[in-house]
Formats: sequence, C-alpha cells, structure tokens
Amino acid sequence: MRAGTGTNGAALPFAKATFALSVHDPRELPPPTGPEIAFVGRSNAGKSSAINALAGRRRLAFVSKTPGRTQLINFFALADAGFLVDLPGYGYAGVPGAVRAHWDHMVGTYVRDRPSLAGVVVVMDVRHPLTALDRRLLDWLRDAGRPVHILLTKSDKLSKQAAQRTLAQVARELAQVCPGGTVQLFSSLKREGIDDAASALARLAAGKNKAPAKGE
Ligand code: GDP
Repeated sequence: MRAGTGTNGAALPFAKATFALSVHDPRELPPPTGPEIAFVGRSNAGKSSAINALAGRRRLAFVSKTPGRTQLINFFALADAGFLVDLPGYGYAGVPGAVRAHWDHMVGTYVRDRPSLAGVVVVMDVRHPLTALDRRLLDWLRDAGRPVHILLTKSDKLSKQAAQRTLAQVARELAQVCPGGTVQLFSSLKREGIDDAASALARLAAGKNKAPAKGE
C-alpha cells in the first residue's frame, strides 16, 4: 500500500487535512465555506483513531485530546474545500452537569443550524453500539435532517460472525431511527473498512445519502 492511499489504492479522504481552528462557542464558528463532515461519538469509541486512519497519520485528531481541547469543536481544513469537524466526545463518566449542558448547547446548535454541514459520521464501539446517548444524538440528527453514516469501530475485537451480526442489527435499528442512514464495520488497528468509509464520506460530501424529508 502506498502512503496516503486506502487498501485498494484509493486516496485517503483526509490525507491532506490540516488543523485549522478550535471553537468553544457556536458563535465563534468560521464562516461556512465548503461541505463539512462532522465526526462524533461516545468518548473512547475510537473516533480519533478512525480519523487518523482515514488521514493516514498517527496524530492528526489527537489535537482534540490535548488538555483543554476535549470540549471544543476542532476544524481541519480539507485539501479541496470544506472541513472535517471533530466534535467533542460524550458520555465521560463523572462529567459535571455544566459540561454536559455545554456539550448539548454547542453540538446541538451546530448540528441543527450549520448550513455547510453535509453529514455526520457517528462512531460507536462495535461491542457497545446504540447506547442511550447514541440514540439521543441520532434523534437530533434525524430531526435536523442530517445524513448519517455509522462507523462500528474496533471490529477486530469481535469474530467476523459476531461483527456481521452486530452490523445487521444496527442496520435494522438505524432504518427505524434514521431512515436513509448507513453503517459499516471499521478497524483502525487492522485498517479495515477504510475504502468503504472513503466512499461513504464522498457520498455525504456530495449531498447524497439524504434522509427522506418528513412525510416523504
Ligand atoms: P476516542 O476517545 O473516541 O477518540 O477514542 P480513541 O481513538 O482515543 O480510542 C480509544 C481506545 O480504543 C484507544 O486505546 C485506542 O487504541 C483503542 N482503539 C481505537 N480504535 C481501535 C480499533 O480499531 N481496534 C482496537 N483494537 N482498538 C482501538
């Protein structure tokens, strides 16, 4: 495999991404330019590792892990146009109510109002998919009409059969919760699912994969 390419030689979607800015208040968001793809997930689900795998770099998304930045929205400029947007993780144990309220306000406002947001990648640990907080987020995304793609990460932690079973289950539930949403298995460790993710990201950025509007 060449550097900067996926397993079949396709370009890695975030190969040329560069850190642009961090925001801690929805009023500080940069002017909307090209399409934005946001990544979000429960803390420790494997979001940073997935972003790094899709960038072919080891430390890109670890910007978001530096102390003081875990509750920020981090923007990475993409090669062509637009941003990869790393939303703060949720579900940290023992987080004070004020931090949770800030997360709700910041992420809720961003996913509801951001005109340039093309789609949202929700990262879940394949061993613990669709937690109560994941479902709450999916409800928000559906209500905001945002196209959704789910990465079931750490697929290397399950047997192939068990991973396929979880994939089928999550796909069934997703069809109910977020019609039009898509889901795949992913392993940053084994670099599996990168090409599928690259196609899904291209679809989101192109504005396809849209959830049907209410009543459609
Ligand atoms: P984040 O908090 O969602 O950004 O999660 P991280 O990317 O920091 O990952 C959390 C933990 O899971 C770390 O210890 C990673 O090494 C591990 N991890 C992430 N992705 C994978 C994966 O695909 N396979 C395995 N086995 N471990 C992973």
